[in-house]
Amino acid sequence: MFEATKAQFELPEGVIYLDGNSLGPLPKGAAGRVARTMTEEWGKRLIRGWNDAGWMAAPERIGDRIAPLVGAPAGSVTMGDTLSIKMFQALAAALGLAPEGRRVVLSDEGNFPTDLYMADGLLAALGRGHELKVVAPEAVEDAIDESVAVLMLTEVDYRTGRLHDMARLTAKAHAAGALAVWDLAHSAGALPIDLEGAGADFAAGCTYKYLNGGPGAPAFIYVAPRWADVARPILSGWLGHEAPFAFDLDYRPAPGVARMRVGTPPIIALASLDAALDVWDGISLAEVRRASLALSERFIAEVEARCPMLTLASPRDGAERGSQVSFRHPEGYAIMQALIARGLIGDFRAPDALRFGFTPLYIDEGDVMAAVAILEEVMAGRLWDRPEYRKRARVT
Ligand SMILES: *Cc1c(COP(=O)(O)O)cnc(C)c1O
Repeated sequence: MFEATKAQFELPEGVIYLDGNSLGPLPKGAAGRVARTMTEEWGKRLIRGWNDAGWMAAPERIGDRIAPLVGAPAGSVTMGDTLSIKMFQALAAALGLAPEGRRVVLSDEGNFPTDLYMADGLLAALGRGHELKVVAPEAVEDAIDESVAVLMLTEVDYRTGRLHDMARLTAKAHAAGALAVWDLAHSAGALPIDLEGAGADFAAGCTYKYLNGGPGAPAFIYVAPRWADVARPILSGWLGHEAPFAFDLDYRPAPGVARMRVGTPPIIALASLDAALDVWDGISLAEVRRASLALSERFIAEVEARCPMLTLASPRDGAERGSQVSFRHPEGYAIMQALIARGLIGDFRAPDALRFGFTPLYIDEGDVMAAVAILEEVMAGRLWDRPEYRKRARVT
């Protein structure tokens, strides 16, 4: 179904890539686009590129290409920095809009640690007695009460793929008078998202996972239109100013989502992302979701039948899962190294999860069956049981 999109990616011979949930592969159009941005724009236009190559407008122009992928209206998304920073900004802005006297930021243990670390740092810097309350994912709904200022969650758990119900939890937060901030790291490009329909207040996501923008590609941030002109930017950089080139000494935020810009946009990285987004033209996320569930379900069934020593760590029901499947094993790290040595690339998340991402834009059933064959061979023959596979690298 996605043969035409698969042909748009560089996929090395002999590799089955089930790690697009962590770093998407190189879209064939990206290298040429980056080269043109460098030689034609930077090389020839020099500083004139900010105006005549559209560099200064790129964050909002590319934000408008992300918007339909996350159910956001045009003009509500901008680009820049990293997801950690965008979550910091989103949480700070949401806290500024929460009712007086609320002191709790509610999150869960399935959240990616950087979100919790950034929240911790922000709350300490604010020094207003806020508390970061972290509960089990299943306990989030019941923990939403009138002490909560902001509900801050990642929609899809990076370890297990467990999917939160964004619309229901956002509605519950709103009913309690709180705001809802969503991290879309493992959902943007993986499944249909309806930020506007769900009523999310703020959201942010990265573009190097399912959106294939390249290592360190800039993050995106969404601000609900109702807040766009009132949210107070905590990182009040000059390019989020109403008139950066007036060089006023006082800060006045730009109208709309552009106030979430901070400093000079990364034009070369944005060029790579822009090319990666071309692949999404005409793609239906509902189709992507259907295909990803079919691939994941096939994978789960085959692995459970052929590798009984692995335990499913992801929800069994596809409706409660994102686009990745994890299995647990105490020797998960060594097993993953053995798989990678045989061309099956997934990743490992401590303490014991083998994680596989399903990305129908370039992974098909043949890949899934070939992956299971490698996994079965490694497990049945204990091929992972070698000292070199236990040596931990810096990135797992
Ligand atoms: C990948 C990921 C991040 C990464 O943040 P960066 O600032 O881009 O390094 C943050 N949050 C979640 C939920 C993630 O999955």
